[in-house]
Amino acid sequence: MTVPSELPAAATADDKIRCDACPVMCYIKPGMAGACDRYANDDGRLVRVDPHVLLERAVSGGGDLVAFGGDAGWDGGVVAGPERFVTAIGAGTTYPDYKPAPFIVSSQVDGVDMVTVVTEGIFSYCGVKVKIDTDRFVGPEQASVRVAGEAVGHVTTGEYGSQMLSLGGVHHLTGGSKKEGRVTCDALLELCNGRPVEMTVDGGATLVIEAGKAPRVNGQLEQRMRVGCGSATIGIFAKQWEGKVDEVVVVDDHITGVLSEHQAGKLLGIAETGIRLKGRRSTPGRYFQVAQPGTGWGGTDIDDPLAILGAFDPKTAYPGLRLLMVSTTGEHHAYFELDESLRPVPRDLPAALVESVERISENCEPALATVLFIGGAGGSLRAGVTENPVRLTRSVKDALTYVTCGGAPVYVWPGGGITFMVDVTRLPANAFGYVPTPALVAPVEFTLRLDDYEAMGGHMGHVRPLSSLGGGLGLRHRDDNPWPFSPQAARRSHG
Ligand code: SF4
Repeated sequence: MTVPSELPAAATADDKIRCDACPVMCYIKPGMAGACDRYANDDGRLVRVDPHVLLERAVSGGGDLVAFGGDAGWDGGVVAGPERFVTAIGAGTTYPDYKPAPFIVSSQVDGVDMVTVVTEGIFSYCGVKVKIDTDRFVGPEQASVRVAGEAVGHVTTGEYGSQMLSLGGVHHLTGGSKKEGRVTCDALLELCNGRPVEMTVDGGATLVIEAGKAPRVNGQLEQRMRVGCGSATIGIFAKQWEGKVDEVVVVDDHITGVLSEHQAGKLLGIAETGIRLKGRRSTPGRYFQVAQPGTGWGGTDIDDPLAILGAFDPKTAYPGLRLLMVSTTGEHHAYFELDESLRPVPRDLPAALVESVERISENCEPALATVLFIGGAGGSLRAGVTENPVRLTRSVKDALTYVTCGGAPVYVWPGGGITFMVDVTRLPANAFGYVPTPALVAPVEFTLRLDDYEAMGGHMGHVRPLSSLGGGLGLRHRDDNPWPFSPQAARRSHG
């Protein structure tokens, strides 16, 4: 579906028209699209190729798509209709920035006149944070992440049960070679629009990341996120092992836990076993660095769990001692009994222990790759909202203005600017675009009271009601996204 652009288009002698929606300023031949594929020359008219998306709050069930008719005519007043929200997806951009945003739309909510300013922001300063629910080693911290051989970001600090990537940002988009910028922009666009991207980490793994789907690490689809570190796993399940086994080691790249030494084991009166672990003891029953990071047991490089054990202390250990070794996902487990020489001998897992191993697996959440887009809306695009941009920033900080991204809730960082993060899976499909400067194009909406908008120096002469829009694609609002017009909406997610 196409929507006539609101932008003026300058015609040339050869029927090309000039798009001025971004700094590239394409000349577009009849029947052709511009460099970003977002605008086209339709018989001399500059048109937006993608539909402008409006969200409809579903009153009852039904399909995902509902018709939107925007031809009701305008009587000059604000529109009653809090069940419909104008997103910036497909709205278009303005360049240069002092031009009013493409759509500044009025509505009435609970008797209060509201306004939503929508614009597709062009973000050179933007990136994504990727959370990969796996203990497997994806690469050293600070290692470059590459797509098609080009550096597009790096591995950052691992978080609890997840490996983290920081991708994009102005240095990769504009600070390197032209190819690096283009590949980075392409990768961000694919990730933000929910498509899979294959990437490699220097000195690490090959990954396939798709927002909201299980990550693939070295070709292996990750199944489970660990239940906790080895120490936490001991703390959670110690009681379930009491009386069924003499010793438990939970193997983990971060903290490997040992039941008999751990405080949980002490509280249960579990006797010492004479077990000795390699690695560095942190506190009783908690060991760091038992092995190297890897893709084996508990995110270590070991395939044989006995590799992390030293000889049992003969003063304490005894033949027949029962030992369970398990990883933090339950994916790996092994059971041993000590022979007369106090050497662990593999045995079948006793039925009494099967349930505890299964329970570790059961308590693991499905492994996902999640992608958060992060962009700064505190710069020049503010001029499309108000003639006095700092007032928009203050209004956001004061929670008078609610920021959304394609209708999805965002988290606005504390501190300077309007730096926000959004889970890309909460936006409608293909909500992100790009321009070849290169930069990502992301939808941003600012919703506030009409009187606050006037007070901040808003472009009041460009406010118009929803019914004055020419048409668009109505999508059903996601039930798990807060409705942008809800009272106190701005206070919910702003830091
Ligand atoms: S890249 Fe796209 S938005 Fe920019 S001028 Fe060309 S057609 Fe217009």
